[in-house]
Amino acid sequence: MVRPPDNRRPAPLAPPTPLRRADAAPPVRRASAAGAVLGTILDHGPVARSTVARLTGLSPAAVSGHCAQLLARGLIRERAQTTGPRGLGRPHIPLEIDTRRYLVAGSHIAVTNSTVALMDLRGRIVAQDRRPHRDPEPEQVLGGMAGRLSGLTAAAGAGRTVLGLGLATGYRVDTAAGTIIDHPRLGWRDVPARDLLTAATGLPVHVDSHSRALARAEQLFGDVSARDSCVLLFVGAVVDAAFATAGTVHRGPRSSAGSVAHLPVGSLGADRHARPPQGAEPCVCGTPGCLQSEVSEPSVLRRARARGLPVADFPDLLELAVAGDEVAKGLFRRRARLVGRVAAWLLDMFDPEVLVVVEQGAGRMPECLAELRAEVGRRSWVCDDPERSVVPSSFTGSVLPVAGGAVALGTLYADPLGPWPAFSAAG
Ligand SMILES: [Zn+2]
Repeated sequence: MVRPPDNRRPAPLAPPTPLRRADAAPPVRRASAAGAVLGTILDHGPVARSTVARLTGLSPAAVSGHCAQLLARGLIRERAQTTGPRGLGRPHIPLEIDTRRYLVAGSHIAVTNSTVALMDLRGRIVAQDRRPHRDPEPEQVLGGMAGRLSGLTAAAGAGRTVLGLGLATGYRVDTAAGTIIDHPRLGWRDVPARDLLTAATGLPVHVDSHSRALARAEQLFGDVSARDSCVLLFVGAVVDAAFATAGTVHRGPRSSAGSVAHLPVGSLGADRHARPPQGAEPCVCGTPGCLQSEVSEPSVLRRARARGLPVADFPDLLELAVAGDEVAKGLFRRRARLVGRVAAWLLDMFDPEVLVVVEQGAGRMPECLAELRAEVGRRSWVCDDPERSVVPSSFTGSVLPVAGGAVALGTLYADPLGPWPAFSAAG
């Protein structure tokens, strides 16, 4: 790749366009204020309008206006009971998220399987269906998911309307263009996933990377301390990360923020000419000892087999470790230490409120989480409380169905008064 020289002269700046007062309240600002109201009701409901005003910093009149629109759309409802002693002024009728009318759909594409799921507006999984890929071609996988989704909605939707569909997957996803730019493990490049799924389902479709989706899920309905800022490190068959702050996930101009897969962590460091250790997975990057080649599921499985463990697949190996097999546990403890090393770097780089680790070993075995936190304690320059700052995923055991649904719910909560077709259809 040819890089531009560093001493480029900056282009002359265009004269600034004066701001006009009339432009001061575009629809986006109103929508995000409505999103703040809806998010506060999700967090604190049942909650009085006056409390929503205090928590969001919006005026009581603005909160009332937004609530009226959210009520009209069926996104929130008034709780029948009133709070406070009788006879003292107007009763405060608390508000809560209305989960009776709408659902969102989610789909997640992993290396060997895909998951479709239905989620209610409070982020609870209503139903899910995971299947191995029969044919990993994009049209087959995406088309198959559309059929499964309509079956799931008929069986478990209980008459509720699906507002939209979120798709999450690993590697590089361009949310604005609606494409999967590159998923080397599937061999997918520039797949127009949004258009294919919109055509197949008739639903509005939003796509994002799975780690960004899970970071948004933590902020919406996961760990409370992730609200201000969080870094999420995803360690599965694919390894990547995401950074979220103030309710927004950073994507980057190339849709590639969080590409940590090839950081050199192994015993061989960054020596591209060294031979990989026995059992290590050779990596496309050519760096033996990169994060992905040391800790991804295929790599850990390969090591387990090299150590003589008779395991069919990664879930098999995990269950063996959870059941107490010392060799299997040792592999997960090693993985936790390497993940801890990268967690320490990420904590130093971003200084987030929390770092969320999506890794099944740390999620299910306390000693692995302790090992990971101890490594953070040894290596981080800024984090002196890994017990508080490093947390396992709030969705251990359900990260795949949550990821897809969170893409759709994240979009809804960002702009609940936006042009969602289901609301227009309902009048
Ligand atoms: Zn690599």
